[in-house]
Amino acid sequence: MPFIGGILEGGELYTTEHQHSFSPPAASMSRFPRAEFLISAADPGQFPSDRGAEVAFVGRSNAGKSTAINTIVQRQGLARTSKTPGRTRLLNFFELAPMQRIVDLPGYGYASGPEAERRTWQPLIEALAGRACLRGWFLIVDARRGLKIGDEALLEWASAEQRVHVLLSKVDKLNRSEAAKVLRESTATLGERGTVQLFSATAKTGVEEAQKTLETWLLSPR
Ligand code: GDP
Repeated sequence: MPFIGGILEGGELYTTEHQHSFSPPAASMSRFPRAEFLISAADPGQFPSDRGAEVAFVGRSNAGKSTAINTIVQRQGLARTSKTPGRTRLLNFFELAPMQRIVDLPGYGYASGPEAERRTWQPLIEALAGRACLRGWFLIVDARRGLKIGDEALLEWASAEQRVHVLLSKVDKLNRSEAAKVLRESTATLGERGTVQLFSATAKTGVEEAQKTLETWLLSPR
């Protein structure tokens, strides 16, 4: 199913063939064909109502979070919304299907560091973490870096009934033994707290696994 095509304005991905034949856009082949941006929230009062199921995506800036979201949802440009001016420091909600949402959190770990970031975002993220609809957290970590102490601190936001799934991203940059090592070490660091997988948007490594995890969580009762 993956194919190469041109990205047109508006975030839809079309094959060259589709452009010529006026067939439906490739987004119809997506697992989440109706994925759309909902709202950028600067305040918990702006969050969508606490119904259905939601999964939060977190990671340091430049970890590959936006690319991972686009690849998993199979909608190029979807998470680009989160990078537009004025939205980069907000919580960006996307609806994948009725009552199924993902939340793209601001990248952390830049500027004055995680502590300052955490102080700024604590109330907003605590409000998110307290939502009944929140099934779990996807944590995007650059595979060259692996899961580190700062990342574990982030996991404090996750309550016991919320799951945690770590994507070790950009694994195409590692050789086979390096990838196996970071997977082993990150799995040990995370322990019982969650699951870890290798991921690469470029090489399409682990995309199916990530999609299945996301879908399962979004369909699971609390
Ligand atoms: P974000 O800040 O966490 O949302 O990160 P982005 O998705 O914007 O990605 C940051 C950089 O990493 C960009 O230059 C991407 O092209 C690159 N990148 C993202 N995913 C991959 C991947 O799977 N492999 C490689 N080699 N580069 C990637």
